[in-house]
Amino acid sequence: MTKVAVLGGGQLGRMLGLAGIPLGIGFRFLDPSPDATARAVGDLVVGGLDDVAAAAKAADGADVVTYEWEGVPAETAVALTADVPVRPSAWALEVAQDRLVEKTMFQGLGIATAPFTAVGARAELDDAIAQLGLPAVLKTRRGGYDGKGQAVLRDAGDADAAWAELGRVPLILEGFVAFRRELSIVAVRGLDGEVACWPVVENAHEGGILRVTRAPAPGADAALQARAERCIRPLLDELDYVGVACVELFDVDGALLANEMAPRVHNSGHWTIEGADTSQFENHLRAVLGWPLGSTAARGASAMVNCIGAMPDRDALLAIPGAHVHDYEKAPRRARKLGHVTVCAPDADALAPRLASMQELVRASADG
Ligand code: AMP
Repeated sequence: MTKVAVLGGGQLGRMLGLAGIPLGIGFRFLDPSPDATARAVGDLVVGGLDDVAAAAKAADGADVVTYEWEGVPAETAVALTADVPVRPSAWALEVAQDRLVEKTMFQGLGIATAPFTAVGARAELDDAIAQLGLPAVLKTRRGGYDGKGQAVLRDAGDADAAWAELGRVPLILEGFVAFRRELSIVAVRGLDGEVACWPVVENAHEGGILRVTRAPAPGADAALQARAERCIRPLLDELDYVGVACVELFDVDGALLANEMAPRVHNSGHWTIEGADTSQFENHLRAVLGWPLGSTAARGASAMVNCIGAMPDRDALLAIPGAHVHDYEKAPRRARKLGHVTVCAPDADALAPRLASMQELVRASADG
């Protein structure tokens, strides 16, 4: 049996398992929690992701090791590489874990970003503000996610408070982007270097957390798709990347700026499970195993809504035509992603009323 070891056992791991089981793939996950949701679809080794011995136990006998969380210490990936292929590589983790390294690589590859500069001391923050102007966004170089570890500076008086909040670690200051909307592009690169991209999607965030993805992005044409692909293809080639990755983009009246990359399957690609010929999860597995990739074409129009803090009424959701419910079986907690729902339709016009019904149900649930 083909065996895949996955570092991390959250919902992304669970959905990798759900995609791989029909292909005859067996899974072993490493996660610090004995309740990790991926335990439903494979064996679970309980241990920290910085615990090289536990990671080696998870990887033992596997054909390939992959990960479903970009916070996996690169050292863990490096330590395993001697015995088993780790895909994507530890290098991709290192780049994605440091916003300065990541944005510097983007720019070196001709991928446009907001202007940015490193900030390592309080005086450098004043210099950075003088250089980039205000408003600007101060972010920790490492460890931020879902809008955490960042502060918007609107006038010079905000600098002290932002420094007090974030200044204990290395930072980056970015020019504030007055974007029209947020987009993302999810792509897969095979072991032979073949790259395939799913249609560019539009993402709506609230409180720093993704709420809704529309696929394809409303109004997306071939030119926008090509611009979005130019923000990810050179990156995947540069990293000799194997697997699925995502680049989050700001759409500034059609011009795209790259914000960050995720070296893994991504929340904005969940719609591909039902809405594309091949899902991001299946193609990730095909890529890391060196198998042929599947078509990334969309089947009509889809939308995905995250269920945050509470699951909506299941029966009411299932009564919506084209609706698919994904319950991660996680304990409810404020601001926690507990599941998602995807709705599909032949085209955007048919999708709209279905999505409206779905959003009403999600909103009606406690924390939605
Ligand atoms: P990030 O942690 O970089 O993904 O940022 C979280 C969210 O903050 C993004 O999805 C944007 O909505 C917003 N944001 C991040 N960077 C900027 C920026 N330079 N200008 C304006 N908004 C930003």
